[in-house]
Amino acid sequence: MAVDHELGAKVRLGDHVALLGSCSWTDRTLVQDGDWYPKKTMSAEERLRYYATQFPLTEIDSTYYAPPAEQQARLWAERTPDGFRFDVKAYSLLTGHPTRPKSLWRDLREQLPPEVAEKRNVYASHLGADALEEAWRRFERALRPLHEAGKLGGVLFQYPPWFVPRRENRAEIDALRDRLPDYRICVEFRSPMWLAEERDRERTLRTLEEHRLVFVCVDAPEAGPTFAALAERGWSLSDVLITHHHADHIQGVPELKAKFPNLKVWGPAKDAARIPFLTHPVAKGDTARIGSLAAKVIETPGHTLGHIAYYFEEDEIAFCGDTLFSLGCGRAFETPYAVLWSSLMKLAALPGQTQLYCGHEYTEANGRFAVTIEPDNPILKARIEEVARLRAARRPTLPTTVAAELAANPFLRAEEPAVQAAVGMHGADPAAVFAEIRARKDRF
Ligand SMILES: [Zn+2]
Repeated sequence: MAVDHELGAKVRLGDHVALLGSCSWTDRTLVQDGDWYPKKTMSAEERLRYYATQFPLTEIDSTYYAPPAEQQARLWAERTPDGFRFDVKAYSLLTGHPTRPKSLWRDLREQLPPEVAEKRNVYASHLGADALEEAWRRFERALRPLHEAGKLGGVLFQYPPWFVPRRENRAEIDALRDRLPDYRICVEFRSPMWLAEERDRERTLRTLEEHRLVFVCVDAPEAGPTFAALAERGWSLSDVLITHHHADHIQGVPELKAKFPNLKVWGPAKDAARIPFLTHPVAKGDTARIGSLAAKVIETPGHTLGHIAYYFEEDEIAFCGDTLFSLGCGRAFETPYAVLWSSLMKLAALPGQTQLYCGHEYTEANGRFAVTIEPDNPILKARIEEVARLRAARRPTLPTTVAAELAANPFLRAEEPAVQAAVGMHGADPAAVFAEIRARKDRF
């Protein structure tokens, strides 16, 4: 297979090279729900090889549920091109999480007291000191093949919320470096107490630095800017509108809710299971009433299955989340491309003057791709110049309008002869042309 030797693109940030990837190449949303992989029937090996052509990095989270075997780590190393990296999540037993007895190595499991062995979960404290030390040794040894192949990125120790800065827990952190002397160790705290008080914060950061432990923040809550904006205006918060379940769109909500207990949280009923704090699930045709304002719910699946947009008809405003961006559109993570295409057409059908508030400020990067499709579109060229000016002045390029996007955004222009010609699909079904453009952007 020729693809074996190509590695997914790296990103340059100033003098640094950043590797981007997904947490697990076997995630359900990649394997089953969407068409991210070229075939549904691929073997584990084929999937990993294909994944590595798209991304240079992945996280292995199966090692949290059961410790890896050395043989497995060797296969991971063999099946990926040079330069590929695996971040490995530490086994649950090693971060104080509940652990299935069955996942333990058999001989260590047999050392558990009988009344413990029958429990649903065991903890590190149930093992004798020697057995626990042996567990650390085996975990370390199993990762050797990855390390020796230069493919072990970091080992992630994600500590639970109840792992607070107490003496014995600080001792755990102190011991990490001796337990895995050769590996890059990353530490993530789920308890805010490690950093909340200045004294704790200084001590925590000093310890991490002394032991050369990498500090990891995931899904940093974005409630802060909301609080600041509210305070500036002297407002309180009554409603939150959620377009889809992705962490970067919902992670600030629990904190907002803690401060405003009566907060109404609107969001897609279809994804209620993935957005646990929804108070007002809505679906196609529903109206979200926020004070005297009314938003019609438009279902726009594609980026995610349950994605919705909010259309304030009277105010001529739409919040379109990650379905449509200025000069671009979201990735089709959870549906075939054609589904995302028909969702985009629903937004394109709104009146031209409708202001579109997109989920991300990606306009500048999108413009770089858009000109590869329509290099001679004068409206696109003018928009790219305008965007460069706005960004240089640190100003947003959003909102945009439906009319502006119809004139410049190649993803909405799959019916245009110039766009069809650009991808060599003259006269083809617009949905197919869109799919080709989206696939090219995925690789861009
Ligand atoms: Zn998203």
